[in-house]
Amino acid sequence: MQTTEISGIKLYQFENLLSFDNLVHFITSRKGGYSKGEFQGLNLGFNVGDDNWNVFRNRKKLSDITGIPIENFTFSEQCHSSNITFVRNSLRGCGATDEKYSVKNTDGLATSIFETCLIIQVADCVPVLLYDSEKHIAAALHAGWKGTISYITGKMIEKLLHFCSSRPENIYAGIGPSIGPCCYEVGEDVYREYKLSGWTKKNVISPGKEQGKYYFDLWQANKQQLIDIGVKPGNIEIASICTKCNSEEFFSSRASYNNTGRFVAGIMLKKK
Ligand SMILES: [Zn+2]
Repeated sequence: MQTTEISGIKLYQFENLLSFDNLVHFITSRKGGYSKGEFQGLNLGFNVGDDNWNVFRNRKKLSDITGIPIENFTFSEQCHSSNITFVRNSLRGCGATDEKYSVKNTDGLATSIFETCLIIQVADCVPVLLYDSEKHIAAALHAGWKGTISYITGKMIEKLLHFCSSRPENIYAGIGPSIGPCCYEVGEDVYREYKLSGWTKKNVISPGKEQGKYYFDLWQANKQQLIDIGVKPGNIEIASICTKCNSEEFFSSRASYNNTGRFVAGIMLKKK
């Protein structure tokens, strides 16, 4: 990944997605912003316990430094599902300044509409950004353990292939900063759900330090879902940045016992 700092805000960007002139994307960090205390820095999530006025000012600052009008930011009401919504003009700007107007009940957003910035909020869960360079479609996904087990990344690619006539070889993917296999220890409940899902692969879950504990590699799991449907491994970039190991730089639920802010991944098609 590359980093860039503008007016105190530090953004991360995938090298593979940066090569497309007509695409804008970013992953925010904690650097910059008005929030204080547990939410120190650029908290972009409303209703996590932070002062919503600070969150609004943080979103406005992100808008200012990216040059994307705040009314083009499009948020969803993430619910750890594998539900996907295609964002049309009428949904552009949903949730940008008031969470209650977010796109309902969805963890995957896709669009072929210009100047519509799809945004996913995270703090340990995996943000996945996708771009179809031939059909000019952008997508953003929220893949925590539930979304990953319910195959959200694979389902998004299947929908692009089925509804948009995408070809997997034209799809580029970035798997963003999130809790890494170094830190993501889960219990029997998650392991059981994973086994029951019918979707199991090598190198995704490995034994933990104690009996009944397992390490869940969400990066590898989401990469595998892309590869299974034909996305070229060379088109997939993994940030390999663990949010729990780097909780000064990124909000991490596990590092802060769920009392923390949210950073975001955004992607937008620009007019050529
Ligand atoms: Zn870690």
